[in-house]
Amino acid sequence: MQFSNDDANQNHSYCENALGIFDGCYESSDDSVSIIPSFTNKPSEVRFKNVISRAFSILTRRNKTSDTNDVSFLGVGKDGDIVIDPSVYMPSAPPIEIDYSAYKEVLEVEPPEWLRDSSATACMQCSAPFTALTRGRHHCRFCGGVFCRGCTKGRCLLPVAFRERNPQRVCDACHGKLDPVQDFLISNISNAVQVAKHDVMDWTCAKGWLNLPIGFSMEDEIYKSSNTLRNYCKVARSNPEKSIPLAILKEAKGLAILTVVKAGAFLSYKLGTGLVVSRKSDGSWSAPSAIFSLGLGWGAQIGGELMDFIIVLRDIKAVRTFCSHMHFSLGAGCSAAAGPIGRVLEADIRAGDRGSCMCYTYSCSKGAFVGASLEGNIVATRMDANMQFYGNPCLTTSDILLGMVDRPEAAEPLYGALKDLYSSLSC
Ligand SMILES: [Zn+2]
Ligand SMILES: [Zn+2]
Repeated sequence: MQFSNDDANQNHSYCENALGIFDGCYESSDDSVSIIPSFTNKPSEVRFKNVISRAFSILTRRNKTSDTNDVSFLGVGKDGDIVIDPSVYMPSAPPIEIDYSAYKEVLEVEPPEWLRDSSATACMQCSAPFTALTRGRHHCRFCGGVFCRGCTKGRCLLPVAFRERNPQRVCDACHGKLDPVQDFLISNISNAVQVAKHDVMDWTCAKGWLNLPIGFSMEDEIYKSSNTLRNYCKVARSNPEKSIPLAILKEAKGLAILTVVKAGAFLSYKLGTGLVVSRKSDGSWSAPSAIFSLGLGWGAQIGGELMDFIIVLRDIKAVRTFCSHMHFSLGAGCSAAAGPIGRVLEADIRAGDRGSCMCYTYSCSKGAFVGASLEGNIVATRMDANMQFYGNPCLTTSDILLGMVDRPEAAEPLYGALKDLYSSLSC
């Protein structure tokens, strides 16, 4: 299967397509019953409720509710059957086999000319008039129409011709059209399936000298954490007494890797981003999930400090804590402690005070990895970064960390670093 953009009829078919959308939208202003003709043949019963529930389900990202009516806009169903389980969108699903010819019209659409803001004084779907502060204009990236925020809640990957790898804002009608091809696009054009371009971590690449505390995308986090792991390998080889004990790394059920900047005088702020990967029962690593960390601390020193942290998740409970959407605090929700270093026997780890800890925290400072506490820091999943990377708004952190998602191609540098870390341990 391949995309060909030189279809002579494409523009023609797109025009019809776009007109169809606009017709639907304009008609909706006259027809208060069926606002989204392409979704379902059944008329929506209560317009306001549907709109609110759609908005709510997207805001809370709770698309996996048992009441599928709440997220009816997610399903498309050609026969008016709107129940589609979000699990069918998992990139790990068996090779995506969609009937390309059936969705050819959608998959070969070219980017539209956006309508001018002045062309609409009211949302083209719900007809609510635009206002400066409470109801702004938003363009649907797929049809180019002008809608209110509430009618463009959906985010979809767009066909190849749009040259866009992040999910984009689309109106509800376009969401319905694009929904059946999402799993195909996820497995073909999302960021996760691209080959990692930034994979040089030696001295020839300035980026590798120092990890920045904030990574803007999962690709940044993958680079940073691979860099941290490679630095760790160097330190551990040259200074085994100042490294994470073998037994702890071997038993790890997951690793969280963060770069944190600590700055301030007396009251210090700690801020950083990173990622977490878990280890499956067969020893392989899961897909990564992006995290951020925020905390306050007290200290006499004035100035700033940049530190790489490796947090060893010691059991599956710790991995589950990182799966939750809820913010949690290292130390409270997830019992964490500065990890032991050097040559420590496994029995000593179990017997010690810290044996019951779910996480061990290590920081790299002055060329040595030492046990360090991140206590009091709030750690949360970066749902936005995960969505941009995997291209799937329905994906939960549990799906990513508990092995429902295949190892993304874009994270290969990270898996390479992990492989090196563990192979250097065994010898
Ligand atoms: Zn609207
Ligand atoms: Zn649209």
